Amino acid sequence: MNTSARLDRLPPYLFAELERKIREKKAAGVDVISLGIGDPDTPTPSFVVDELSSAAREPATHRYPSNRGRPELREAFARFYDRRFGVSLDPETEIVPALGAKECIFNLNLAFLDPGTVALAADPGYPVYTGGPLLAGAECELMPLLPERGFAPDLDAIPAQTRERARLMYLNYPNNPTGAVAPEGLFQRAVDFAREHDILVVHDASYTETTFDGYVAPSFLETPGAKDVGVEVFSLSKGYNMTGWRTAAIVGNSDAVAAYWKLKTNIDSGMFEPVQMAAAAALDRGDAEPKRMSAIYQRRRDLVVGALREIGVNVGTPKATIYVWAPVPGGHTSASYCELVLEESGVVVSPGSSYGPNGEGFFRISLTVEDERLSEAVERMRTSLSSG
Ligand SMILES: *Cc1c(COP(=O)(O)O)cnc(C)c1O
Repeated sequence: MNTSARLDRLPPYLFAELERKIREKKAAGVDVISLGIGDPDTPTPSFVVDELSSAAREPATHRYPSNRGRPELREAFARFYDRRFGVSLDPETEIVPALGAKECIFNLNLAFLDPGTVALAADPGYPVYTGGPLLAGAECELMPLLPERGFAPDLDAIPAQTRERARLMYLNYPNNPTGAVAPEGLFQRAVDFAREHDILVVHDASYTETTFDGYVAPSFLETPGAKDVGVEVFSLSKGYNMTGWRTAAIVGNSDAVAAYWKLKTNIDSGMFEPVQMAAAAALDRGDAEPKRMSAIYQRRRDLVVGALREIGVNVGTPKATIYVWAPVPGGHTSASYCELVLEESGVVVSPGSSYGPNGEGFFRISLTVEDERLSEAVERMRTSLSSG
């Protein structure tokens, strides 16, 4: 059996070894606590579940949905964007629902890239920004996100030949994995750069609703000129505890939205209608939910940051997201430190290097574990890893 050259282009899975050790620990009876994956631990709001179940009782919702989405859902996204960001969107031409941000981002690669063209992707970054272009037969140019630049890419450092071949640029603020919020002026520079080089900016807005200490995250589309050169992918997964539901939308530039839609009509058949109705309810009536969740994550963030500082880890205080991104102590690589943490305390944290070469030297802790388990995890790390 031969797999495709496309599939063979994907890099080997880096953390097989760490996963093997996790299995080994579990088999040996260790109570392993995983702070590895970012997946909200509390349930979807009950009014959203109620909306799904009542809609699912209507036989009319059981048939093929339309890939454009129900007007109610597109209109709910438009109302949300207007109320939350002051961004006005035409539900007819500027919004199409997606089966999660991941599906949307992956498919944008197929819609916009050819062999020989390039996607500009953050390093470290969400893996689909780099895997997607490879699977589309195109290339990926990494834009380093460095702490000394506030985790903003240096657009001036992108080589001239790369700019000419680039068709997509991925941005994501608040950022996974670094927890950084949009650096001052970056969105405007991205709009200017995209206009000059005829690039589509794709802003991944997976964490705009998960913010702390009074910080309010902007939409990329608030930036003057953004709609001429860009789209935003807004997901309900993290903010509304809806990861399993596969609910997101692409919003913004109507030509880009139309290209995505054209591609998508050939790939899937849209979102189950009761899920669309539930998502519309979340957008219309759910403003309090991400705020309530953010308060929980803020408390957990303080717990984790405090404990890390006690064991000599020099970590910043993120203003958003469900992650703490911390430098590994001296003498370690990301992988060796994550193995040590597992070995000494039975706690799983993610090696920064799994998000790109510039993630080397960091590890990521996810805050999506109930308070008691998280307290226990940090207590174990504090007692077993204390340098003093
Ligand atoms: C979790 C995550 C996604 C995936 O979102 P879905 O809508 O669940 O597909 C996309 N981008 C980033 C940066 C994420 O962290």
